[in-house]
Amino acid sequence: MASSKKKGLKSSGPKDSNLDTNDDDKTELCPGFRDVDVFVKNGFGAVLSATKASAGLPQAGDEYDFYRSFPGFQEFCESQGDKLLHCMSQIMQHHGCRSHMRDRNKLTGLEERFDLVVDSNDVILERVGILLDEADGVNRSQQPVMPAGFQPPKVVVSSWNRKGSSPSSRSETFRLLHAKNITRPQLKFKEKVDNSNTPFIPKIFIKPNAVKPLPSYFTNKQMRKERPEDLDVPAALADFIHQQRTQEHVDDMFAHPYQYELDHLTIPENLLSKPEPQMHKPVAETKLSFVDTLEDLVALNEKLCKLSEFAVDLEHHSYRSFLGLTCLMQISTREEDFIIDTLELRSEMYILNEAFTDPSIVKVFHGADSDIEWLQRDFGLYVVNLFDTHQASRALNLARHSLDHLLKHFCNVDSDKRYQLADWRVRPLPDEMVQYARTDTHYLLYIYDCVRVQLLDFNHGQPGLLQSVWNKSSSISLKKYVKPIYTEESYLELQRKQKKSFNTQQLTAFRLLFAWRDKLARQEDESTGPNGLGYVLPTHMMIKISEELPREPQGIIACCNPVPPLVRQYINELHLLVQQAREMPLLKAEIAAQKKKGLTPIKKPEVPLFGPHDTSRVSESDPPQISADGKLHALKQGMLFSEDEDVDVQKESGLVASAKLTLFEEVEIKDDQESSSAAQMKARRIIESFENPFRMYLPSTDVHVNKNAKFDPSSKIFEISKRWKLQSVEQQQTELEESSNAGGKKRERVDSEVGDLTPKPSKKLMKSAEKPQKTEVTPQDSFKPFDYSQSDLKVFAGTHIIFLLHWVKPRLIFHSFAVVLKSKKKQFKFCALSFLLQVTHQRITHSLIQTGKGFRHNWPKR
Ligand code: AMP
Ligand code: MN
Ligand code: ZN
Repeated sequence: MASSKKKGLKSSGPKDSNLDTNDDDKTELCPGFRDVDVFVKNGFGAVLSATKASAGLPQAGDEYDFYRSFPGFQEFCESQGDKLLHCMSQIMQHHGCRSHMRDRNKLTGLEERFDLVVDSNDVILERVGILLDEADGVNRSQQPVMPAGFQPPKVVVSSWNRKGSSPSSRSETFRLLHAKNITRPQLKFKEKVDNSNTPFIPKIFIKPNAVKPLPSYFTNKQMRKERPEDLDVPAALADFIHQQRTQEHVDDMFAHPYQYELDHLTIPENLLSKPEPQMHKPVAETKLSFVDTLEDLVALNEKLCKLSEFAVDLEHHSYRSFLGLTCLMQISTREEDFIIDTLELRSEMYILNEAFTDPSIVKVFHGADSDIEWLQRDFGLYVVNLFDTHQASRALNLARHSLDHLLKHFCNVDSDKRYQLADWRVRPLPDEMVQYARTDTHYLLYIYDCVRVQLLDFNHGQPGLLQSVWNKSSSISLKKYVKPIYTEESYLELQRKQKKSFNTQQLTAFRLLFAWRDKLARQEDESTGPNGLGYVLPTHMMIKISEELPREPQGIIACCNPVPPLVRQYINELHLLVQQAREMPLLKAEIAAQKKKGLTPIKKPEVPLFGPHDTSRVSESDPPQISADGKLHALKQGMLFSEDEDVDVQKESGLVASAKLTLFEEVEIKDDQESSSAAQMKARRIIESFENPFRMYLPSTDVHVNKNAKFDPSSKIFEISKRWKLQSVEQQQTELEESSNAGGKKRERVDSEVGDLTPKPSKKLMKSAEKPQKTEVTPQDSFKPFDYSQSDLKVFAGTHIIFLLHWVKPRLIFHSFAVVLKSKKKQFKFCALSFLLQVTHQRITHSLIQTGKGFRHNWPKR
């Protein structure tokens, strides 16, 4: 290490000469940094300010598009883009990754570069992970193990962010085992899965260890058995019956069945005092039982009831099911390990409530948040007296809170997460998966002992900290499973999350597709998807269809890659929905953009969000897109990644440019496509291709409330929100005119509605929304818009990389982050570096800040 340090010093020149290089302790860690602390401090500061700055960038979408109309902003983006690319290339090279980010071969295009970044990020993060483990003393073996007897899937999707087009070049940390032809376990369920759009009602009908008896609603079998969705009546009637039946029981039905018991749970004295840690048995000497019959389950329950503690974990599947399926339960006692086939014993699992709700038996979980919900949802199981080692780890402020880490820290056991995302529905369970599952609970009771000792030591023998972990655990037990409920507004929530702005037709399509997806997912018992990555129709495809509103069924297919089976199957229905959306009257302001969409859609770079078990192949080489005008559109994509784009047109497209204005004058275009001659069609296409896609931001005639707004409240909102934007554009233009002061005739002012906008528009806007007729302005008064049509919308495509990255390996990123802060070790400069690489755009900030906690909350372990 010392020699490399000196090398670094030599090459970095004379500015380091003030340092005493003879004293080995005082040599710099790397040029300009005295020691790791200084480096970390500096790196963290840099990350922080980069994050702040990127958060301040205009949002991709409307806001960005607007800014992009200013040449200064364009130039800034380009120069910064170049800098970033250079920086990224260097970092990639440093890590030995392919890095021809700035290659001139445009045909490989954005997609290829996108892959490069994804690959490099993987390599770097992988290295961060390895270094962290190394620092912890963990020695991970790098070779993934495939279960015996399992053919690797044809396309190995080795982590969630990739297309799997060239699996050979990829690191192979995650194996998404996909056993083909798994029969749907749901088919064997004795009790039908209840995907109805009604709130979840606890499955419990017997309440062992009750202090407060179970309300009559749950004990009345008749009432429970005849669930309205089972009755052969129309949905509306079923809803009514449901309402009538449930009204008097509402409070009971939605309460936590063990609320009272949990509220009155007191942790006995002996559990608050220091235990003598009881070493776990070696796995090899521990009996493992596979439980898949009622008889064995009963025997297990009896065994558990005699104990004072046992450890529990679950494995879950969420891709081919609407609500998700608990596939496996692992239980470890001090003596034995059990693996329960919960797909087989789903309807019988409830008998374990006898042990699970016995307050004198401690149930040890690691990161129980999801488990608690899954237990309720699938089995009607509850936990009274939970100890969550994840909560303990947090209270102890350990470096990391994953089970991996605890296993290494307390048991010196190397574990890996290779099977975490495996398809746990597979039967018979491959040996390797059994071993993996078993490891999740085998050591947990020993860890439970160790953390209790530490929690007491940490607090000078006082039980306060330990008590707080018991309390936290208790509150996790109190979590109630909440079923996803579809409402008329659900789609708006998703739209908000996706930060998409749609015109009326697009929004309608989005709403209809959303409803279709939800309905079909419930009906077919398939996922709409965690993070929109579901089986039926992933959100990014839904957005694409909504944006493009394809005229033909084939166009819908083209929006999906790979095409989800249900999309193919229901293509006609989907086509009708899109047609229905197209029939929505557009706001005038929206018409122009819409017409352009009717033209040959320009293919955007795919966002390769793939379901975990999605093995459909992606074509190796998507041919470059050729649009009606015969140009290679691929060439225009990904400005940020190109060096010698023809930027002249773009430079001219700013607010000050006027040469092209005449191109955008309102053109009368008849909608009777069929009756036009080929030449007319061509002419129209050419004119349409000049249409300004951002005219909705321009003040003018187009500002009016469509009559349709009366009927569609969402379009009203849309209109109003646009008016706000309009005003700011207006103000800027006024300023521009005033400052240039050049013979004011260049632009005509619109005198009516827009002209007299006051600084407090809200009242006015409401008023105008109420009186749509009065706000109409004739097109002739139109403010001449600018040529934004050349603006490149793909510049922020790289955003997805960052976003995906965060999404795929959130914990890894968190860990890097956390350890950089804490650590004094040199290796962690990699963390800072990789972080800097990632913090190139705002999304990471958003996703980190917004979902970070939630994510950890949901997947806190391993
Ligand atoms: P664990 O408690 O780590 O064994 O995880 C239980 C289940 O949660 C697994 O079987 C997965 O279905 C799911 N799970 C855990 N971690 C993740 C993750 N990072 N992404 C998606 N699903 C996960
Ligand atoms: Mn778990
Ligand atoms: Zn597990």
